[in-house]
Amino acid sequence: MFTGKTKNIGIIGYPIEHSLSPAMQNAAIKKIGIDYSYIAMPVNPYQLKQAILGLKVLGFKGFNVTIPHKINIIPLLDEIDDHAKMIGAVNTVVIQQGKMIGYNTDSVGFITALEKNNFTVHGKHAILLGAGGAALAVIWGLITSGITSLTIGVRNVNKAKPLITKFENYIKINVLDWSDKSFHLALKSCDLLINATPLGMAPYIEQTPPVEWELITKKTFVCDLIYNPISTKFLNLAKENGNHIMNGEGMLVEQGAAAFKLWTGLPASTEVMQDKLNFCRNIEGF
Ligand code: NAP
Repeated sequence: MFTGKTKNIGIIGYPIEHSLSPAMQNAAIKKIGIDYSYIAMPVNPYQLKQAILGLKVLGFKGFNVTIPHKINIIPLLDEIDDHAKMIGAVNTVVIQQGKMIGYNTDSVGFITALEKNNFTVHGKHAILLGAGGAALAVIWGLITSGITSLTIGVRNVNKAKPLITKFENYIKINVLDWSDKSFHLALKSCDLLINATPLGMAPYIEQTPPVEWELITKKTFVCDLIYNPISTKFLNLAKENGNHIMNGEGMLVEQGAAAFKLWTGLPASTEVMQDKLNFCRNIEGF
């Protein structure tokens, strides 16, 4: 039962109707039995500042941030954690003693999901397809977990080149056109291949990044950040090629659990969160 003592948390985005976070977070809240409530709040980009000041005034303990606010919220916050600063995006805000503090849990979410799939990042060679917001969180997660080298494959090299300057002090990083021969050569020796583009996401489930699967050995672990559909064309082709695979649901759950811990100080049950996602998948509209 919600009362005047219930602590409020939630998610802001635009649009937000299809977010799975309310179902997932409220399931974790119910499991522990704490007096919290998590709601989805549509926030028009033109009203971002008013909206987050409103949440502070209303006594919210914090909130998640999703598209299109992850970057634009940064100058509006009181403090940004070092990892979120490096990534350049915030997906979680904690409101504490009147201060709004920004974090990024996508990064740790991705790495925890990999670890739970028994993949060790340290000393490995990775190839990332795409160089958008999600890719930045993944890159920083890989760097802080000890990846040896990183190749980014994109359709537009000039647009992605600033990533080299941003991360070259931390890692041997290369940005290549994914139709180039040099990119195909890199594919032959990678341990980890990640799709961080929206290619293959519903409703465009027939799309896939251009990977020549015959170049990829069976030892390469293949991930897709997409979680709708649960198995993309990219992952289906990887499976046919004999590779171990991971979809984006683990990252979604783990970033949510990391945010939950920041707000409540308690560990969330990722099993309960995952069960709730499985349940939602069978309901029309999700
Ligand atoms: P984004 O900022 O739009 O970046 C997407 C990247 O993909 C960019 O490099 C973009 O290249 C490239 N791209 C987009 N459309 C393309 C196309 N038609 N052909 C070739 N390249 C294309 O997206 P994002 O926010 O990083 O998200 C990427 C994916 O990750 C989405 O599917 C999202 O759902 C997923 N995601 C999952 C989680 C999770 O928890 N599992 C979290 C965050 C995101 P250009 O710059 O050339 O456009």
